[in-house]
Amino acid sequence: MTEQSNRRLSVDLADQVAIVTGAARGLGQTIARDIAASGAKVACVDVNEGLLAETVERITAAGGMAAAFPCDVTDGQRVTAVVGEVVGKWGRLDILVNNAGVTRDNVVLRMKDEEWDLVLGINLRGTFLFTRAAAKPMIKGKRGRIINIASVSGMMGNPGQANYSASKAGVIGLTRTVSRELSKRNITVNAVAPGFIATDMAAKLGDEVIEQIKAETPLGRLGSPQDVADAVLFLASDAASFITGHVLVVDGGLMV
Ligand code: NAP
Repeated sequence: MTEQSNRRLSVDLADQVAIVTGAARGLGQTIARDIAASGAKVACVDVNEGLLAETVERITAAGGMAAAFPCDVTDGQRVTAVVGEVVGKWGRLDILVNNAGVTRDNVVLRMKDEEWDLVLGINLRGTFLFTRAAAKPMIKGKRGRIINIASVSGMMGNPGQANYSASKAGVIGLTRTVSRELSKRNITVNAVAPGFIATDMAAKLGDEVIEQIKAETPLGRLGSPQDVADAVLFLASDAASFITGHVLVVDGGLMV
């Protein structure tokens, strides 16, 4: 991770408070860094306590305000406690980015119950738990931005990812329903659906698959974490105040 933000959008999030899940590495780390660089205080949530502490140190060293909140997003009690701790520390909650996610790929005939449950639990249940907990202080504060990281796999399907695709399709359904439920409260709820982005998650696919993905992507490359973080920053900003229930696809044209 670079020490300084490389964001290409200048967004003013001063005086705002954000929670970013899965912030220890990958997309979440870049999103947390850029939200902090835009002036917000950022609660970084992850199960990976060591990397989480490093992420927070780097954001702080670059002049941002951040704190670590170790948390498994599937643990409802801990999720509620984290939201309470964040509001207790900084007095409000404006932005929630539900980014924590995992893959456990297998063709459906060989998929184990545990692989299904783990992926649905983290990707979908975790998003629901944080959304429910965060909505309360957002309603109290009379504003909010919830941004869920989905995937093109949840829209077009992907062989070997029945669990992952189902979880991300679920995230999109959750996004659209909650956007309708919270619209009268001045809370927008949107999703970003990345294509293939160069992170540890994509690296697991192997070189051959990655070359094939590049060939099938009209823009001819994998996305960068910055491509996704910029989309999240836009949706978190005032510029997106009339956008809700939307799925912003960031995939280099893969779905065209
Ligand atoms: P990543 O590099 O694997 O990072 C995910 C982070 O989430 C890790 O720090 C991980 O901790 C953490 N995490 C895992 N389970 C958790 C839990 N139960 N509670 C809290 N934190 C947990 O993944 P990424 O590529 O940045 O992906 C981020 C999001 O983007 C995911 O939702 C993913 O589905 C989505 N996405 C990614 C791509 C892509 O190509 N990379 C494409 C589309 C969508 P550990 O290190 O301990 O596992």
